[in-house]
Amino acid sequence: QVRVRFAPSPTGPLHIGGVRTALFNYLFAKKHNGVFYLRIEDTDQTRFVPGAEEYIMEALEWLGISPEETVGKNEKFGPYRQSDRKELYLQYADQLINSGWAYYAFDTPESLDAHRKQHEAEGKTFIYNHHNREKLDTSLVISAEETAKRIANGEHYVIRFKTPVNETLHLQDIIRGEVKFETNLLDDKVLFKSDGMPTYHLANIVDDHLMETSHVIRGEEWLPSMPLHVLLYRAFGWDAPEFAHLPLILKPIGNGKLSKRDGDKLGFPVFPLEWKTEEGVSSGYREKGFFPEAVINFLALLGWNDGTDKEIFSLDELVEAFDLNRVHKSGAKFDPEKNKWFNHQHLIKQNNEDLAKDFTPILVEKGFSSFDSAQDDITKLTKIVSLIKERAHFVSEFWELSDFFFQAPTSYDEKASKNWKEETPALMQELTSVLENIEDFTSVNIETIVKDWMTKNEIGMGKVMQPFRLSLVGALKGPHLFDIVEIIGKEETISRIQKAIV
Ligand code: GLU
Repeated sequence: QVRVRFAPSPTGPLHIGGVRTALFNYLFAKKHNGVFYLRIEDTDQTRFVPGAEEYIMEALEWLGISPEETVGKNEKFGPYRQSDRKELYLQYADQLINSGWAYYAFDTPESLDAHRKQHEAEGKTFIYNHHNREKLDTSLVISAEETAKRIANGEHYVIRFKTPVNETLHLQDIIRGEVKFETNLLDDKVLFKSDGMPTYHLANIVDDHLMETSHVIRGEEWLPSMPLHVLLYRAFGWDAPEFAHLPLILKPIGNGKLSKRDGDKLGFPVFPLEWKTEEGVSSGYREKGFFPEAVINFLALLGWNDGTDKEIFSLDELVEAFDLNRVHKSGAKFDPEKNKWFNHQHLIKQNNEDLAKDFTPILVEKGFSSFDSAQDDITKLTKIVSLIKERAHFVSEFWELSDFFFQAPTSYDEKASKNWKEETPALMQELTSVLENIEDFTSVNIETIVKDWMTKNEIGMGKVMQPFRLSLVGALKGPHLFDIVEIIGKEETISRIQKAIV
């Protein structure tokens, strides 16, 4: 069975790159009728940030990609928080010591630093592995008794992995194909610290095994850890899961990985939800007015496509189309402008009545307190929304696109006023009488009658239509004029014309 996980460390708000990792895991799981679970990797207590775990859960929920199993939910292989599994890891570290795959090391930070400096002076890089094991302070050089004594005396130690010597690893990555690593270039990584906590590497492998993870899908930054992880599976005698390392998400401009600073500079969020600290607020896609479906959609296309030029996908369509084999190796450029376009595409797909409801709080804030859930208002608002949404990227732009539906213009666009000729007031006056007599005050009917009147009296279109629009809207913008006329109603239309001609 496919079982995949998202395994973030709660060291701050979830970066948009992390969200993409979660999404690809989710899509892969759903595609294969598998399980997507969330594990909190908080063994590094020094980097723990309060609120980060809740933030991660909330973000996934908002996006509609909640895990099936996690802390407090279907804890089949629980606990799902590594700090709650603390007691578990030591036995696995011991197992590796006993089988000769790991050893104790007592080196102090000072002595390690001295080794590093000495190597540098000789123009070499210091690798903590068999190249140097003789010179290091470890149970590989001192006796078992001595080791036991020093541990009993409370000396600080760590447990390190004993990397095999002279081996070329030919590893398989679903996205990258074969990846080669020379074990001689790998450090003997720390697996366990004397504070009783495992490091990321040990906890990650033990948990992926115990939680029956079938595929490890994660960011490219973890590719260098892959040889160690595969060797750890070998050391334990466990089958390794399959690996897939997702391409980097790149800056919109220039080279390198997308960072929070790019977002600050260009004014776009790099977090799904707003994140507040004492230092300030980092904006989030949710608060910027993005639809979760739009965020999912643009993230899915960062490093993947379905092989056609289709760009707009719902979550269900993504599940259907997703294929890990189609994920690209090379980095994917983040495009904040294109992301707005995605939001527009998802906005126009929304149900108009839902959009009307989203618009209501803005209207209330503008002082139109009557715009509540009263059916009349919603029907009218729904119509307004249907007329303007093609021009909007966000619901927050609705007001600017539709203010004239709610209030008479307080000023008239100067350039457009050029069309206001000497004969205009008289024509507009006549128009009001035409409008006055229309019984069925609906868009098509009003349009027919007004146009008949113009034809009969040989009045040019521009002579009426532009001043008419200017009177109602204050500028030469907005949707079809007769739709506006119908919505604001006879009385208001006539009153606005009258106001314009004085
Ligand atoms: N805890 C790691 C992280 O913060 C997980 C890496 C992995 O998926 O193995 O991204």
